[in-house]
Amino acid sequence: MRSHLIKPELGKAYPLIDYGKGIYLYDATGKRYVDGCSGAVSANIGHGITEIIEKMAEQANRVSFAYRAQFTSEPAEALAAKLAEWAPDRLNWSFFVNSGSEATETAQKMAIQYWQEKGFARKTRIISRWMSYHGITQGALSMSGHVLRRKRFVPILNDYPAVSAPYPYRRPAGMSLEEYAVSCANELEQALLRIGPEHVAAFIAEPVIGAAGGAVVPPDGYFQRIREICDQYDILLIADEVMTGLGRTGKKFAVEHWGIHPDLIALGKGMGAGYTPIAAVLASDDIVGTIAAGSGVIMGGHTYSANPQSTATALAVLQYMEQHDLVSQAAANGRYLLERLQQLAAKYPLIGEARGLGLLTGLEFVKNRPTKEPFALSLGIGQRVLEAAFRRGLLIYPAFGGLDGMAGDAVIVAPPLIITPEQIDEMIGLLDAAIAEVQEQVNA
Ligand code: PLP
Repeated sequence: MRSHLIKPELGKAYPLIDYGKGIYLYDATGKRYVDGCSGAVSANIGHGITEIIEKMAEQANRVSFAYRAQFTSEPAEALAAKLAEWAPDRLNWSFFVNSGSEATETAQKMAIQYWQEKGFARKTRIISRWMSYHGITQGALSMSGHVLRRKRFVPILNDYPAVSAPYPYRRPAGMSLEEYAVSCANELEQALLRIGPEHVAAFIAEPVIGAAGGAVVPPDGYFQRIREICDQYDILLIADEVMTGLGRTGKKFAVEHWGIHPDLIALGKGMGAGYTPIAAVLASDDIVGTIAAGSGVIMGGHTYSANPQSTATALAVLQYMEQHDLVSQAAANGRYLLERLQQLAAKYPLIGEARGLGLLTGLEFVKNRPTKEPFALSLGIGQRVLEAAFRRGLLIYPAFGGLDGMAGDAVIVAPPLIITPEQIDEMIGLLDAAIAEVQEQVNA
């Protein structure tokens, strides 16, 4: 069919979306889909919530846009105050942008600017990890350890991941999780000694690996040791909580699971919860104070940063989450979801591991369960499961290509935080049938 819209896969026919309600989406033919991945792990409070829509209309009737270099606004101030209430200690400041990529790239720039203001102009390198995704813009992709997404653009990327991320499922045989946590974290120290901490501004990591791994949870002790190393060598710690932040993992911020305080946090996705594009960098008093005492201007920001319409919407989302206690619900329902996924793993040899934290869960597919040998990526096993689920009216999210065939053919299951146990059962029923279909193909 002739079309003018460039779609993700050129030439593929996509169903036409009609409307959404709660955890369900409906296409124009009336087919219903369980949104088992909150779109792109973003529609965190579900679709079509009247209270949010009313607040959006209220703000639109007042003023949608006022440029942040000319005005501040009540919703932008209130959203920053609300985020300061939610955030770990010291992260009292918010800088608003429009996407997760902008958030991680702004955090990168803020880290570099911080050291410049302190007189350390050579501290410009950001250390990141393989098996990570921090976004698609040039600075964000430079930091990303997602092989499939990077490989065409390597010549124009100005940075590269220098350490591996913990991947407990594939840790060296015989190594305890405790030893593994420390050994992975110590890779950061080795990289710092190789590159020279005088050249390094920050270390960035996703608390739970999303699109590049499929809900890979680090072992306890890893982030505590990372924090120690960052302090010892005077580099900032940036937590990329674009996917994990604001309740997704059963805590307001995923870093709370390990009791650590980053210097900067990148947020996106669930912040606007699909109702508006908005993202943020949360920064500590120290960072903002240093820049305020120096040049006084953060070298970042976009036309739509902190606009009244998007900030009012994100504020309504956070208030809705508080009123409905969605963070604790994500913790409780996440435990149930993982249990149900583990039952599927016990049933299908195709599943190497079911894992996750809160309502950010994943399934990794393997050719041989005892040896954990992965499928060739060209077989597209994760993609087949995704398509089989889609046909049955279940949406799940791809997490393949992070290591490009070496490992990690996985999918993410991350429904809206409003999901009930009964709806989890419904979702698992559809997923079970989809996996059965692919298991049969593999057995044939
Ligand atoms: N960081 C993480 C952890 C992500 O998962 C993503 C998107 O998947 C991004 C950054 C980039 O966000 P966006 O697609 O909104 O630019």
